[in-house]
Amino acid sequence: MGKLRRVYARCPVCDNVFPTLSAGSYVTIGREPDLCPKFPGRASDGSRLLQSGVTMCPACSFASQGEFSGLDLTFDEQYDLRERLEDDGLLRVFREHPPPWLAFHAAEVCGQELGAEARELGDLCLRASWVCRKEKEQPFESTFQLRAVRYFMRALEEGSLYGREFPVTAYLVGELNRRLGHHREALNWYVNAERALKEAPERGLAWLERLISQQSKLAREQAA
Ligand SMILES: [Zn+2]
Repeated sequence: MGKLRRVYARCPVCDNVFPTLSAGSYVTIGREPDLCPKFPGRASDGSRLLQSGVTMCPACSFASQGEFSGLDLTFDEQYDLRERLEDDGLLRVFREHPPPWLAFHAAEVCGQELGAEARELGDLCLRASWVCRKEKEQPFESTFQLRAVRYFMRALEEGSLYGREFPVTAYLVGELNRRLGHHREALNWYVNAERALKEAPERGLAWLERLISQQSKLAREQAA
């Protein structure tokens, strides 16, 4: 099991200094087909490790991956973020008693405001869906999967993905669609991922080839 260290973070929006947990190195025992890492021990411990990848300021809800180090924001960015975070509907409802996925949502909002790449925003939503699954928050798991699909599709359309990112992202769009019950969509995207894999022959992607054939077989059975 990984160790969580207590560190202090300074919020780049409101200057609040607060303690937070940071994950050191940790052991995984493989991945689920949507690439969610499996950890030894209880699901709740795995969830805490995943949650430690994102930090949220308890005062203003600013959030990002990591522990805010190296984040330098202009006055205008701070102002816009403050407005955006105050107006956000989910943050308004859940800020008092934050559920385990809230920091990911806040990081998504802040990432949008700061012009983060679609692939990065999709990645945040995917991680949030893993946390929801480990915490058995099913409706929110689906919400985040759907958002991840939208960001990943945008990233694929923009042509901003290089090397292995392209086939891996196409595969994830397939796998998330399958999990959402959209089996036809899923099958189309597994085919796209297979094609992308052939066009960009990289070393060390045999695992992806295996996953694509295994999961498209599953989607075909589920679609029947
Ligand atoms: Zn703050």
